[in-house]
Amino acid sequence: MGLLSGKKGLILGVANDHSIAWGIAQALHREGAELGFTYVGEMLERRVRPLAASLDAKLIEPCDANNDAEIAALMTKTRAVFGQVDFLIHAIAYANKNELQGAYLNTTRAGFLLAMEVSAYSLTALVKAADEAELLVDGTSILTLTYHGAQQVIPNYNAMGVAKAALEASVRYLAADLGPRNIRVNAISAGPIRTLAASGITGFRALHKQFADAAPLRRHITIEDVGNAAVYFCSHLSGGVTGEISYVDAGFNVVVAGGE
Ligand code: NAD
Repeated sequence: MGLLSGKKGLILGVANDHSIAWGIAQALHREGAELGFTYVGEMLERRVRPLAASLDAKLIEPCDANNDAEIAALMTKTRAVFGQVDFLIHAIAYANKNELQGAYLNTTRAGFLLAMEVSAYSLTALVKAADEAELLVDGTSILTLTYHGAQQVIPNYNAMGVAKAALEASVRYLAADLGPRNIRVNAISAGPIRTLAASGITGFRALHKQFADAAPLRRHITIEDVGNAAVYFCSHLSGGVTGEISYVDAGFNVVVAGGE
């Protein structure tokens, strides 16, 4: 019996088989969970459907996190299929490429607001809609993905760093709101992984290359590493943990570069 046998929930953010959400989906499935997936637009639908089917997905629905009607429709469908959710995985972020290069000082109002809406507010919008659809119950675990650029300046991360800071604060506020009902909200702060989203960040390849030399574990982080940590957050093993930002980054955040 897996750690998540009999548990069911939604995973938002699979774009392809390099996605962190896909690493999470595989790990949750391995532990016996039943999964529902979402996609944005027809192009990604073609990628997501076969992946989801390979894990015996119970639902595969469109959901643009900026579209309240699509969010509501997703929750209605989820209610019909699952009745309730034991976990909700939010692995969504977006900023225009021109905001992920050069000085933060040059951030545009429109670019800032878009990064904030997709990458930070979407968590609150989804949790709110799931609650309105009565999907959240005693024991539900909500998990999002963040990055260290929320805490320290990482070149070119810019508006996304500010959005991740807002996302991390949202985790704490949501944890406080939902904690009395034993609904937990946490985030995994992952080390750099080569994904579609990461490819939009100027200099990401170099940052990724240098990472393993500086991280205490002297290696890169994989989507399997993040998936395994997600199993902990979605299971009873983390029953006493909420409002937490948990690093899965080979220890990178605890060291100062240039020591040797
Ligand atoms: P990815 O490109 O595989 O996933 C990003 C997902 O966001 C895609 O599935 C995309 O469809 C979705 N998305 C974008 N706009 C959306 C919208 N309006 N509505 C709904 N979904 C939308 O890349 P990833 O690296 O797996 O990203 C997943 C999460 O992990 C993101 O929050 C990202 O910031 C975070 N993260 C990534 C890294 C990294 O190095 N790759 C590190 C730490 C945190």
